[in-house]
Amino acid sequence: MSTHPEHSPEGTPCADVVLRLFEFVDDETEPLDRHRIQAHLDECSACLAEYEMDLLLKALVRRACARQSAPAELRAQILTRITIVHRTDG
Ligand SMILES: [Zn+2]
Repeated sequence: MSTHPEHSPEGTPCADVVLRLFEFVDDETEPLDRHRIQAHLDECSACLAEYEMDLLLKALVRRACARQSAPAELRAQILTRITIVHRTDG
């Protein structure tokens, strides 16, 4: 009974990795945890897939936020559409 449950040298539980993926993606993970997560991702395809999903999600959120700052283009597209509808209507 000398081993601490949280101090396993290898084999970070998947639940542990998944819980920290958001920090990992945001570069906010402690260096030690970062190393453990990276090692786990190298060997666990399930968590790697989860990690890639998080990366994708982050990119999508970023893109959505970037779009909010440039609504002029969208407005122009809508206005063009309305104009076309008006023309065919009358
Ligand atoms: Zn895993």
